Amino acid sequence: MSESTVLKFGGTSVADAGALQRVAGVVQRAHRSTRPIVVVSALAGVTDALLAAADAAASGDAERIRLQLDALLERHAEIAGRLARPENARGIRTVLERTRAEIADLLQRVAAEPERRPALRDELAAYGERLSAALLTAVLLATDVPARYVDALDRRLVPVLGGYIGATLEGVTTTLGRGGSDYSAALVGAALGAREIQIWTDVSGVLTADPRVVPGAGTIPSLSYAEAAELAYFGAKVLHPKTIQPAMERDIPVRICNSNAPAHPGTMVTARGELRAGTVKAIAHKSGITVLQIGSTRMLGAYGFLRGLFEVFERHQTVVDVVTTSEVSVSLTVDDARSLPDIVAELEPLGTVAVESGRAIVCVVGEGLRTTPGIAARVFATISDINVSLISQGASRVNLTFVVDEDRVQEAVLRLHDALFEREPADLDAAAATGAP
Ligand code: ADP
Ligand code: ASP
Ligand code: MG
Repeated sequence: MSESTVLKFGGTSVADAGALQRVAGVVQRAHRSTRPIVVVSALAGVTDALLAAADAAASGDAERIRLQLDALLERHAEIAGRLARPENARGIRTVLERTRAEIADLLQRVAAEPERRPALRDELAAYGERLSAALLTAVLLATDVPARYVDALDRRLVPVLGGYIGATLEGVTTTLGRGGSDYSAALVGAALGAREIQIWTDVSGVLTADPRVVPGAGTIPSLSYAEAAELAYFGAKVLHPKTIQPAMERDIPVRICNSNAPAHPGTMVTARGELRAGTVKAIAHKSGITVLQIGSTRMLGAYGFLRGLFEVFERHQTVVDVVTTSEVSVSLTVDDARSLPDIVAELEPLGTVAVESGRAIVCVVGEGLRTTPGIAARVFATISDINVSLISQGASRVNLTFVVDEDRVQEAVLRLHDALFEREPADLDAAAATGAP
């Protein structure tokens, strides 16, 4: 295990000069005790604006969002003007002007070369992280952290990498998918055998539920890899779904911390987590889900039926999230509905197909579910007046997952949080007491 620690800062952690200054403080402190490697996201809103510009250019209207994009790009130079040394601020200004010309050129190509649009979109999006990494490097240099915007390592320097972006084997720019900087940090951490991977964001760790739905959600002091992966996969935006995998493979702890409250211990994710029998640790949810029900008596006692069914999804590169089966039907969920018409057409020879859109997945997570009877009964009693379709308890048994109507999901999550957490103050106290490192 090396002495390096990966510190990843999300878009809101580098949103403005104040935020960048706090980040510089965190890196400066880390630099005193370890060898930090910094992975940074684009400044808040920049990826959205770059992708919106690509969409606008594709529909022949690149001008429409140009002002907004320009203002966001200008922010890099403004912040550098305030926080970087003059020579480095001039450097950022030069990079920015070059970037503007390159973006204008790419937008023209988006309009002119429709067949290359997916690749050009990635190339455009990549500018967000390229600029933020250059800017953060300049800000760190001004606080006497010997940072360098590099992709190679040097013993004495603090490397600053843009997350989210990468290249294919052929050298074509690509991205890791929205929110992918977390995954970049985990890949770098795993490749280096880092001591710890830290995800710095705008909340104090992984919370017991999405704070935008449950304002009273509290920090979970510790999670196992399995718990964190389930939460990330089923909607906890604070971690990109793929973040846990590389960390788990090399047994590297992942810590989620708040760049607005650096002293808060946040959440620690490790192989074991901390088992608290009888308690649920968090509730995640994900809207925009489509449920497919495939009914066929041909399944009865037949083999090969399910393989044929899942091959349809494989052909269309569509991920299936939750599956339940009975003797004569299969229900499953997908969140990427782009290929649905083709999928349904190919499933129809296998049986009757019903499609329900506008659904949401709710996922109740905790290693305690393995050993504690009665949690399912409590969960469903709490939302007994809300229609639940498709219930699944994953093989890992750290989650209880089910589907409800999208327009009732917030109510379901709020009520579950109230029943499972807020009425158990003793549990929460215990968690807080044991979680601080
Ligand atoms: P960053 O820009 O740092 O990558 P994100 O917006 O991607 O930040 O992720 C952090 C946000 O995730 C939080 O502000 C919060 O609104 C949302 N979120 C959803 N579910 C959870 C959860 N269970 N715990 C913490 N945050 C969550
Ligand atoms: N900037 C990228 C996005 O907004 C990646 C990230 O923030 O993790 O999706
Ligand atoms: Mg994120």
